[in-house]
Amino acid sequence: MLEFLPQVLFTLVLIGAIIFFAKNVSSLKRNINLGRDVDRTDQKDKRFKKMMRVALGQSKMVARPIAGILHIIVYVGFVIINIEVLEIIIDGVAGTHRIFGFLGPVYDVLIASFEVLAFLVLVSVIVFWIRRNMMNIRRFLARELKGWPKNDANNILYFEVVLMVLFLTMNATDYQLQLLGASHYASDAGIVGSFPISQFLLPIFDGMSVGTLIVIERACWWLHIVGILIFLNYLYYSKHLHILLAFPNVYFSNLDQLGKFKNLEAVTNEVKLMMDPNADPFAEPEGGDEEDIPEKFGASDVQDLNWFQLLSAYTCTECGRCTSECPANQTGKKLSPRKIMMDTRDRLEEVGKQIDKGEEVSTDKQLLDDYITREELWACTTCNACVDACPVGIDPLSIIMDMRQYLVMEQSAAPAELNNAMSNIENNSAPWPYNQQDRLDWAKEEA
Ligand code: SF4
Ligand code: SF4
Repeated sequence: MLEFLPQVLFTLVLIGAIIFFAKNVSSLKRNINLGRDVDRTDQKDKRFKKMMRVALGQSKMVARPIAGILHIIVYVGFVIINIEVLEIIIDGVAGTHRIFGFLGPVYDVLIASFEVLAFLVLVSVIVFWIRRNMMNIRRFLARELKGWPKNDANNILYFEVVLMVLFLTMNATDYQLQLLGASHYASDAGIVGSFPISQFLLPIFDGMSVGTLIVIERACWWLHIVGILIFLNYLYYSKHLHILLAFPNVYFSNLDQLGKFKNLEAVTNEVKLMMDPNADPFAEPEGGDEEDIPEKFGASDVQDLNWFQLLSAYTCTECGRCTSECPANQTGKKLSPRKIMMDTRDRLEEVGKQIDKGEEVSTDKQLLDDYITREELWACTTCNACVDACPVGIDPLSIIMDMRQYLVMEQSAAPAELNNAMSNIENNSAPWPYNQQDRLDWAKEEA
């Protein structure tokens, strides 16, 4: 009975990790669904192609070649090496040793490529750590990255290093055990797997007894798989959730031309009426019936945003590519589109926790003012550089515009300069403070 203890223990750990992960996924889904509805079910082919190009192909990452290529190595390495997790799980539950070994040469090629990738991941992660912590790169020094976001980024790098070292040590001891003909490890078919990187670790284990090697191999095996299960459950609390969410986020991203803003039909018609000198001021407005007018214009809190914007808040990788392209940020304004996304996620998490406790969502705090200030919102030039730069299809500008819409339409709280321009448009059909009749006076003066 005792011989099955490791399998039973492993199965329990695996089930526990899956249950915890499922619970986090359900909280994530519930929080995202707090947002308003938006239809992103159109143009499925175009969406799928964009997802393949941008999320799977990482086409936007290479805009910055060093970081982009290193990221692709870590990403591909991480995904492919995890194919081996499947084998580890089957071995763990069934008590077998390298169950896919029957694939023969194909298996050798697979294990060899996992090892090469593991080594490249190790090198890339070390370069990432140096860039993030020693090279004073501006986008990693911003105020929104102080504290947890910086620790989170480093935690994952440490995690990756530990996982890769465990993986290579596990393979090296396994290889040594096979060479020594240890039972359970050695196979009549010869060496199972090919170990181009971990073979260089063999001298470390020279002279060790089979018992010691088995202890090291088993310890690495357990720490490696438990580490992966912890990583999986850590994702929910980390910016690394983008590993999973980048795909749906790119798929559901906005396909309209950048710069095309959504207009409320009722408001558009009213403005048209206002601008038309021949319009009958007492006529019934065309289209845009009552149903088109929302209960609240724009957004002051996360529930006023749409589900895609909330999904994006969880997807944000905190890479800062948006902020480093932002002209407002570059000219010293308080605005950082990355912070807009991070604040939205923080507030959404806060709301989610209140719901988890069965409490009413408190209105003492909201996204506007308590997280994102008006100064940040009005610093935006609406240039769309952040949207264009984002490697995972996020649109921070849409959140800024929704919050501005709330300020203008619900609170009449636009900055004085804008209020003047808007009053002028209303009164003079132009943003300037001149009567319509005087508008061509400058031409007379020129003549
Ligand atoms: S749209 Fe606004 S937030 Fe985005 S880059 Fe331009 S100024 Fe910055
Ligand atoms: S919004 Fe996009 S570009 Fe900006 S930090 Fe997040 S992932 Fe990076």
